[in-house]
Amino acid sequence: ALDDVPLVIENLSKSYPGGLKAVNDLSFRVERGQVLGLLGPNGAGKTTTLRMLMGLIQPTDGNIRVFGHHVYSGAPVLSRIGSFVEGAGFLPHLSGQANLELYWAATGRPADKAHLAEALEIAGLGDAVHRRVRTYSQGMRQRLAIAQAMLGLPDLLVLDEPTNGLDPPQIHQMREVLQRYAAAGRTVLVSSHLLAEVEQTCDHVVVMHHGKLVASGPVEAIVGGASEATFRVDQPTQAADVL
Ligand code: ATP
Repeated sequence: ALDDVPLVIENLSKSYPGGLKAVNDLSFRVERGQVLGLLGPNGAGKTTTLRMLMGLIQPTDGNIRVFGHHVYSGAPVLSRIGSFVEGAGFLPHLSGQANLELYWAATGRPADKAHLAEALEIAGLGDAVHRRVRTYSQGMRQRLAIAQAMLGLPDLLVLDEPTNGLDPPQIHQMREVLQRYAAAGRTVLVSSHLLAEVEQTCDHVVVMHHGKLVASGPVEAIVGGASEATFRVDQPTQAADVL
């Protein structure tokens, strides 16, 4: 049943004033347990897509269903989505853990030590959670922001460019974080403009260009197969940026 599918996007479009179609008749679905990468060069429409599915902006056309429920601003099903905000505003003089506790209290939901512990554990911050955030490296801040998105262990975790600014070993560790999160039957949707990152962190991929889907499938098929060739031929200039 559709109630069981974390995300179904059907014929989704978004036009901005001035007529630019940032997202153009996009359809794809994400199954439970997948780590799906939304891949495309800057301006492909990834952020616009993610903002629509988080109920932050309204589609011009089409449908977004999360666990069978339509998404709109204030939709109850949005509580099943956790999202990552780059450069989340942490208080530097507080510990990582204190920051997350404060954030959670501000959402008005009841404290849940077990969820907090699991989010911190998956994010892999170790003892650093007790240190002040101002001592954190960028990679640690990024992990803390991801732990924040995981609080409450949402069924669908949405991360917009979480690997921005990370070095290759940190990107590699991200794979473990995302795969561990999804292994419990949860689902991760993550955007990136770098094929190598998606290849390392995801198991499925949707490739977007100029607002349209140009390829989708298991990572191995997209990376090595015919879809990549199609993508190259269709989009010679931008393909160089992505691949
Ligand atoms: P990036 O990685 O740079 O964020 P993206 O794939 O996420 O790229 P979007 O941010 O969704 O792409 O942008 C898609 C297109 O829509 C771009 O051409 C962008 O300039 C345009 N756009 C985004 N937001 C707006 C807006 N509020 N008003 C008008 N145009 C916009």
